[in-house]
Amino acid sequence: TIDLRVALSDLTHLLNRLVGEKVRLALRHDPAGLFIRADKRQLEQVVMNLVVNARDAMPEGGEIRIETSQRRLDGPQVLDRATIPPGRYVLVTVTDEGTGIPPDRLPKIFEPFYTTKKPGEGTGLGLSTVYGIVKQTGGFIFAESEVGRGSTFTLWLPAHDRPR
Ligand code: ADP
Ligand code: MG
Repeated sequence: TIDLRVALSDLTHLLNRLVGEKVRLALRHDPAGLFIRADKRQLEQVVMNLVVNARDAMPEGGEIRIETSQRRLDGPQVLDRATIPPGRYVLVTVTDEGTGIPPDRLPKIFEPFYTTKKPGEGTGLGLSTVYGIVKQTGGFIFAESEVGRGSTFTLWLPAHDRPR
């Protein structure tokens, strides 16, 4: 069981190095402790891949916002083409002010080897890895994007109680 606030705080130094000088990283945490059950290394991989993509989408710089919150579903909720079962979830959103993703490309981004980057700059494996890890924890991931405005990736991860 991982405390998301602790996990993200442990990662901020590395994330700030990853994004470089021109990009600002803003973290906003839900005041409550948010606990999920996941492999810490894998969770770090997920956040890092999303942040690197956000950085790459903002060559002129800008802000990346990472926010956590909690959500309770009393009934199933349909989002995009997924049906999220009822229960408690921890939400993590990563928002950038980058180029955005055209609607016709959005369905492809989680496919392995899908990339719009030059050879050597991207493998196209970042988001497929993220997708696999999120599914493994019983979670969901959604992408919203507007060309010229930016993108938001939202993770829904099953919430767990604080370990005693
Ligand atoms: P890679 O980063 O190696 O290209 P990913 O699987 O991480 O592979 O991402 C696949 C593609 O999805 C990227 O090449 C890019 O076209 C698009 N993409 C992912 N995240 C973003 C983002 N935050 N803003 C704009 N495009 C993105
Ligand atoms: Mg990537």
